[in-house]
Amino acid sequence: MIQAKSYAAQAPGATLAPWQFERREVGPHDVQIEIHYCGVCHSDLHQVNNDWFPGIFPMVPGHEIVGKVIKVGDHVKNFKTGELAGVGCMVDSCQVCENCKADLEQYCLEGSNQTYNSKGRDGQPTYGGYSNTIVVREEFVLHISDKLSLAATAPLLCAGITTYSPLRHWKVGKGHKLAILGLGGLGHMGVKFGVAFGADVTVLSTSASKEKDALALGAQHFVVTKDPAQLAAVKGSFDFILDTVSAEHDMNLYLSLLKTDGTHICVGVPSEAYAVHPFSLLGGRKSLAGSGIGGIKETQEMLDFCAENNITSDIELINMKDIQTAYDRMVKGDVRYRFVIDMATL
Ligand code: NAP
Ligand code: ZN
Repeated sequence: MIQAKSYAAQAPGATLAPWQFERREVGPHDVQIEIHYCGVCHSDLHQVNNDWFPGIFPMVPGHEIVGKVIKVGDHVKNFKTGELAGVGCMVDSCQVCENCKADLEQYCLEGSNQTYNSKGRDGQPTYGGYSNTIVVREEFVLHISDKLSLAATAPLLCAGITTYSPLRHWKVGKGHKLAILGLGGLGHMGVKFGVAFGADVTVLSTSASKEKDALALGAQHFVVTKDPAQLAAVKGSFDFILDTVSAEHDMNLYLSLLKTDGTHICVGVPSEAYAVHPFSLLGGRKSLAGSGIGGIKETQEMLDFCAENNITSDIELINMKDIQTAYDRMVKGDVRYRFVIDMATL
């Protein structure tokens, strides 16, 4: 077995602290990565806090992983030691169901195996990227360009693909009015992709202080959602709303901002269910939709798109020991715009 170092929560809501554990040996189809950076996703905090479902503890969060390949199994074809590599939210899936065959492993009919707070296909708990090393089967490892800042690339593995995938699926681009709801880790990547795809982008935010940043990220418009006058001015005006909000919010209010035939796409996952009135949808033939991360093929496509177009995340690099402060700031919506852990500080 491989001895690994990490920061883990030993119980729901616990403060993260150093923890040593074992990872499996590198099998014939596995790649071992020395982790250099790991992004901090709001999903990490949701799961440490059991916001969605009872988690598996000890829990090592982290699913925005980048680093260097240090060992490959005998049958590995696409990775060599010394290369940069990344791992996102999934580490395995059945590979044979309809969805896996369609490159939609995230919707695997048997359930994809998540990078942490999940079990691998061997039945063993999975542990994530707040760690010095990880072993993953080749099919779930991504190629990372050396053209971009490695630390700022890490968040592409979750925040990047989670916003890229729905914008591609709904073919959002020129001629569309796109609203990004919530300017955090996912939201700021949604702005970058929306702008890159040619959409007219509005940021809908509870934080008036983020206006300057939103415009610097490329958004054309900024609306403070706490100001009724600003909200009234954009009523019925968007083709799409990409909803990245991590806490409860009034879905009926935001649906009223869509045009006829507009689509509200949920990617944010608050702990409570939404209350949606049918009138909010039928008046204007509106759609309420959702999207989960993206398949491996599309994640590689997104990473290649980012390398070609010089797109990375705007990050604050932190020491491992400061993770709790980062979580506290994330809860307050004070992320500018993704925390990334420097694993050299583990
Ligand atoms: P984040 O960085 O904390 O950003 C969330 C943003 O939502 C905040 O910065 C804030 O932006 C806004 N917000 C927070 N509380 C709000 C409230 N009560 N009402 C309105 N807006 C509020 O989080 P993240 O990492 O981007 O993740 C966002 C959500 O997506 C999380 O729930 C996460 O679990 C989920 N997620 C889903 C997927 C998927 O596959 N679908 C993948 C990754 C993450 P403003 O200050 O601009 O209002
Ligand atoms: Zn995530």
